[in-house]
Amino acid sequence: MKLGLIGFPLEHSLSPVMQEAALRSAGLEGSYRLLETPPAFLRARLQEVRRVYAGVNVTIPHKETVLPYLDGLSPEAQAIGAVNTIVREGDRLIGHNTDAPGFISGLDEAGIAYRGRRALILGAGGAARAVAYALKEEGAQVALYNRTPERAKALCQALGLHLVTVESLEIAVRSADLLINTTSVGLKDPSSSPLPPGLLPRAGVVVDIVYNPPITRLLREAQQAGLPTLGGLPMLVWQGALAFELWTGYRADVQAMYAAARAQLAQTPI
Ligand code: NAP
Repeated sequence: MKLGLIGFPLEHSLSPVMQEAALRSAGLEGSYRLLETPPAFLRARLQEVRRVYAGVNVTIPHKETVLPYLDGLSPEAQAIGAVNTIVREGDRLIGHNTDAPGFISGLDEAGIAYRGRRALILGAGGAARAVAYALKEEGAQVALYNRTPERAKALCQALGLHLVTVESLEIAVRSADLLINTTSVGLKDPSSSPLPPGLLPRAGVVVDIVYNPPITRLLREAQQAGLPTLGGLPMLVWQGALAFELWTGYRADVQAMYAAARAQLAQTPI
């Protein structure tokens, strides 16, 4: 079974070790390759996928631009407008989004409640779209703040979210039951945080979907303030597990995927 990841650039991805651990655990023969694909080669890459791959993941910068090349979309991928998993069905390529249910599975696994809760999302990129859609579908009250207000406004209008402006940010953060960083601030940079020092929820859970480093500055400060926290690894593992199940029809060994991802992270320090 040939699987892979389409993106550009691709470096230090945890997906090959996670997916190959899941294949081994399920007793399936196969491989998961990094398919570095500059934008100009996306069409040709998808033709190759159609011929020889059972499925692929899709990452930056192709999650949205891949849509016109596909033959069908799951309802989630359609609503989110982004695809992170492609499944080949015969000679048809069907786009799915497992980031959204993967995020929710990570919360469920950690016992974090969200239904009816006030969730504040920081960021308005592709990941924010998936997280916002998922939380809204699950009955959370979702608000969103982004550095570039136009982008925040467009996403809030598209998904029916509450827009938080720079003026209302402090009160929204303090009263959040769930604060989720979906910006890339903190990625490979333990010294930066998307919020000014000292600005944290009074009593909410703080989630950072950045997984490298495992403890970002935002999470460290939240822990020091005595707040419960969750890092980005659960979302990464669960989106991968759900993709694996779509490709193979087998239940993914999530613990084997966690172990493989943690071992790789330990070898590739930031
Ligand atoms: P994206 O589409 O490029 O969006 C990036 C977001 O970060 C935008 O909202 C951008 O704001 C914001 N941002 C970037 N630099 C900033 C800064 N200096 N100050 C404030 N805001 C800043 O990226 P994405 O695909 O959504 O991914 C975002 C992060 O999520 C990445 O770190 C990625 O690794 C992580 N991620 C994790 C998982 C997982 O499974 N754990 C899955 C997907 C993504 P502007 O609009 O103002 O530019």
